[in-house]
Amino acid sequence: MSNQVAQPAAAAIAPTANVQYFLCITCNQHKPATDYNFKKSDGSRYPTCRVCNQANNVTFWQDKQFKFCDKCRAFKPIRKFSTYNGAPSMHCIKCHCADLTFKKLTEDADKAYNNGNTTAQYPWTPAVANTIRPQASMFSKTVGGGKR
Ligand SMILES: [Zn+2]
Ligand SMILES: [Zn+2]
Repeated sequence: MSNQVAQPAAAAIAPTANVQYFLCITCNQHKPATDYNFKKSDGSRYPTCRVCNQANNVTFWQDKQFKFCDKCRAFKPIRKFSTYNGAPSMHCIKCHCADLTFKKLTEDADKAYNNGNTTAQYPWTPAVANTIRPQASMFSKTVGGGKR
C-alpha cells in the first residue's frame, strides 16, 4: 500500500521540481520554460512565450516582401519560403529541399554503411565519408522551423 502511495507522489514531484515559471512580457502570464524558445547563440530565453512569439512573427511578416535566407545568404521574396502557421520558414524552399535531399542521401548511405556496404554513396566523396561519417542529426531541423 505504501508503495502505491509513494510512487505517484514522487512522480508528481519530480517533473515539477525543476520547473521555473517566467513572465511573458506580451500576454502577462507565467509559463514554464518549455513554453519559451531559447536563443541558439547564448541559450538565453526569449522574453515572449512561444504562442505570443508565433503571433508576433506572423504580424511581423505580414507586410514584408523579402526575407533573408541564412543558408544561401541572400534576400528572397517571401513566396520563396514555406509557411508554418502563417510565418515564413527560416530557410528558403530551395535550401530547405537541398537540406532534405542531403539528409536523405546521408541517411541512406548510413543505412548501407551500417549494413556492411563500405562503398556507401554519401553525397560527397567516400574517402571523406569513411573518416568523418556525418550523421543525419548534424543537419539543421528542416521541418517545422520558422524561428527567427
Ligand atoms: Zn505570451
Ligand atoms: Zn536559401
